[in-house]
Amino acid sequence: MISGILLKGYSGFYYVYAEDRVWECSLRGRFRIRDQEFLPGDRVQILPGTGIKATIEKVEERQNSLVRPTIANVDQAFLVFACVSPQPDLNLLDRLLIQVTEVKIKPIIILNKMDQAEKPNIEDQDMFALSRLDFYQNLGYDLLKVSTRTGQGLDEVRKHLKNKITVLAGPSGVGKSSLLNALDPALELKTGEVSRKLKRGRHTTRHVELMVCGEGLLADTPGFSSLYLPKMNREELAVFFPEFADYEGGCRFTSCLHHKEPDCAIKTAVEAGHIEKLRYEHYCLFLEEVIAAERRY
Ligand code: GDP
Ligand code: ZN
Repeated sequence: MISGILLKGYSGFYYVYAEDRVWECSLRGRFRIRDQEFLPGDRVQILPGTGIKATIEKVEERQNSLVRPTIANVDQAFLVFACVSPQPDLNLLDRLLIQVTEVKIKPIIILNKMDQAEKPNIEDQDMFALSRLDFYQNLGYDLLKVSTRTGQGLDEVRKHLKNKITVLAGPSGVGKSSLLNALDPALELKTGEVSRKLKRGRHTTRHVELMVCGEGLLADTPGFSSLYLPKMNREELAVFFPEFADYEGGCRFTSCLHHKEPDCAIKTAVEAGHIEKLRYEHYCLFLEEVIAAERRY
């Protein structure tokens, strides 16, 4: 028996990636499970037959499973943004970081179009500095700067893909399809195709599949497209802002929400430039949303 990962189920067959190839598997006779009980990403044990045929003998317990896209055992999410055209939407990035962290998936920020980073047409220097996203690295997040056009940084992305199950997220136009093509030309996705798949995927969420990309597996539909924050209590939000941890102890109130309270060490740290102002603004914005959502529960 060999271990593999289920890529997709299709007309009664299950396609499993094991030992660097895809096997067309059927289920062992006395082990028929209803379709929906299998998810792409499930770890399985297969028994090879003739050629590429095999049978699935066993399904391992899942580490986690995502609802959108429906995939099991996801290790990490590539949060893809462009440094220009379009400029990074940091509100969206901060939301995605929360969504991904909340389901215990590791976020990896990918900043594409670095070949355009030095173009002098960016007038707002503050925005320009922010658009390099360097401060996210100081917060402990992985940040990979790439260009699908020049190939910059792609080897580093390939290293991160290796032996992992990855989902993609990020707005359209940032170069997600281009990135997949650059990473693994065998994928041959047309530019813009990931976005089209996203649109289609809204109606056919059950047809999510994993594809082999380099030495790893990647979901064909971008995940975490929802703009909503996960359900949480207002006190929990600060957990998703790791840069607050060093200062929180200094607030006058232990229950401080770092919003309208007096003697708040977080606000002092923002004013002193120790915490990025934009991050704090997003925190306040998200806090209001979390409080508004609490009332609906
Ligand atoms: P998606 O919507 O996220 O899948 O983005 P696409 O892959 O369709 O790319 C959107 C546009 O950005 C296309 O015109 C690409 O040619 C362009 N693009 C992608 N990567 C790069 C890059 O590294 N540098 C530059 N300058 N343009 C890029
Ligand atoms: Zn405070």
